[in-house]
Amino acid sequence: MTIEDYETLVIEQKGLCPVCSTPLPLLEPENGKRPPVDHNHITGTPCGVLHNRCNRAIGLLYDSSELCRKSGRIPREAWTLTWQTTFHR
Ligand SMILES: [Zn+2]
Repeated sequence: MTIEDYETLVIEQKGLCPVCSTPLPLLEPENGKRPPVDHNHITGTPCGVLHNRCNRAIGLLYDSSELCRKSGRIPREAWTLTWQTTFHR
């Protein structure tokens, strides 16, 4: 993928990450690199520029759209409870 192809993809996304819908930085603060391009793992076709953290998150869910969708169905109270019991004892 050329830099022009990369920039075209970011413009098509209106500069937003397709996972979290917040603006993409020019360079990721954690590694100083451009946000990564996610690819269709079967065809190799680029499918979007994501935050590094968002790319990792969907990777941890095995790039499964079903698992990503299911995770969104967990009631938010459960996340808060887990966070509090895990990190704020
Ligand atoms: Zn994101």
